[in-house]
Amino acid sequence: MTRAGSCQCGHVRYEVSGPDIGLVLCYCTECQRLSTGIGTYSMVFPRGAFRLISGSLKSHERAGHAGTRNVGHFCPKCGVRIYHEDPHQDYVRLKAGTLNHASELEPDAHIWTQSAPAWVRLPDGCLSYETQAEPAEMIAAVQARRAARADQM
Ligand SMILES: [Zn+2]
Ligand SMILES: [Zn+2]
Repeated sequence: MTRAGSCQCGHVRYEVSGPDIGLVLCYCTECQRLSTGIGTYSMVFPRGAFRLISGSLKSHERAGHAGTRNVGHFCPKCGVRIYHEDPHQDYVRLKAGTLNHASELEPDAHIWTQSAPAWVRLPDGCLSYETQAEPAEMIAAVQARRAARADQM
């Protein structure tokens, strides 16, 4: 499966190939500032699934949670974030709102729910974490839920 997306001005166009590892909605205060909204949507892919089709990216780095690095890559013309990564990890976190047809997506997990606006209602039985989820543990939980759902169909 190949998905395509772009920034707001169209300078950056990209494709991501293969199945994603999980779609995570994060309500942390950093993501609220970054999105100028209530959080960000990150679709996790193995490093190498992302391919820049046109344009170029600039990057901004900040210290992540618990000693991790958090490097954000964005369009130098319109400023839209395209993906984030920790250079020491083997996956990237695509900002899923930049995908074409982003409204068709449904999150696998909700994190940092303690800083979500009080009016947000999480779906019944969803996978959620009050603060940061440990990545390997969350990915395992997402994969288990996807497998269970596939069995029901
Ligand atoms: Zn742009
Ligand atoms: Zn966040």
